[in-house]
Amino acid sequence: MNTFASRLLAWFDVHGRHDLPWQHPRSAYRVWVSEIMLQQTRAETVIPYFLAFMARFPDVRALADAPADEVLHLWSGLGYYARARNLHRAARLVMEVHGGELPAYRHVLEALPGIGRSTAAAIAAQAFGQAEAILDGNVRRVLARHAGIEGWPGSPAVQRRLWSVAEERIPGLRMADYTQAMMDLGATVCTRRRPDCHRCPVAADCVALAGDRVADLPAPRPGRALPVRTRWAGVVSAPEGIYLERRLASGIWGGLYSLPEREEAGELRDWILSRWPGARQTEPPVERIGHVFSHYRLDLRILRFALPSAACGIMEGEQAIWYNSRLPMRVGLPAPIERFLIEHGNSE
Ligand code: SF4
Repeated sequence: MNTFASRLLAWFDVHGRHDLPWQHPRSAYRVWVSEIMLQQTRAETVIPYFLAFMARFPDVRALADAPADEVLHLWSGLGYYARARNLHRAARLVMEVHGGELPAYRHVLEALPGIGRSTAAAIAAQAFGQAEAILDGNVRRVLARHAGIEGWPGSPAVQRRLWSVAEERIPGLRMADYTQAMMDLGATVCTRRRPDCHRCPVAADCVALAGDRVADLPAPRPGRALPVRTRWAGVVSAPEGIYLERRLASGIWGGLYSLPEREEAGELRDWILSRWPGARQTEPPVERIGHVFSHYRLDLRILRFALPSAACGIMEGEQAIWYNSRLPMRVGLPAPIERFLIEHGNSE
């Protein structure tokens, strides 16, 4: 056995987690359900869901026979519901294609819905003792640091390197314990923030620790420089509230109520003054609302106008309201606009 694995296993025997419900008994079905629940989710959160799920669906047949709604109901609150739908579909396939027995081999497991390479390896190693390496988020972090692997782990080249390092280190024996030990080391010692290197069983040859690179590895996803889109919005205040209009159903913030917006300041000013000839522009320095969308940054610049009263009102057929942030209505507002109105809103 390589020394990485032997040190890790010795540490696991003393400090690892040995009382997780899916370890007792460690059937293939229980390991499978736990692995799916543990994707993107911490063990402490998963435990009550796992126990309730097992009470209702104690085996793969019970799960396969259940209506989809009931499976989703027991998943409620765990999030990422595609996991539950795939688990249910996979249970039906296990009944139909595999005679009710979960396959023991990674490649066969990977053909089932919702089971990727690392999950398949975790099931094969923990339930069947197969010599398979896993590479979940915790393990990626441990290996990137311990082997000093630079680059963002989401990139194909770094992924390949991590898989090969993960495979080099598996012991071949005690695979269930080794797999759990890797997960435990990442979850309890080599944590994302503040890893506890003093307690780490493999610190002696950790490349990141030796090179003072622990805080830098694994490398974050490279930032994309998003384009900035500048727009102008009008805060038209009357004693009754601030004018908000409903946005078109399609596009950003579709169907929500928001400030009137235009591409140019002059265009916005002209529209407001023709709509409310009594409006007076007030002159604080231009305020801004910033918001990041997936494909651009919005730089929304604010012009303020005051009206003596809202009597000039809202035209017939216009989808608009006078919004008072002290008496908010039950309408949908974009979060950054609502925040702005609560903080700086009814100033007139
Ligand atoms: S020494 Fe620190 S950084 Fe290196 S593997 Fe251990 S906990 Fe992680």
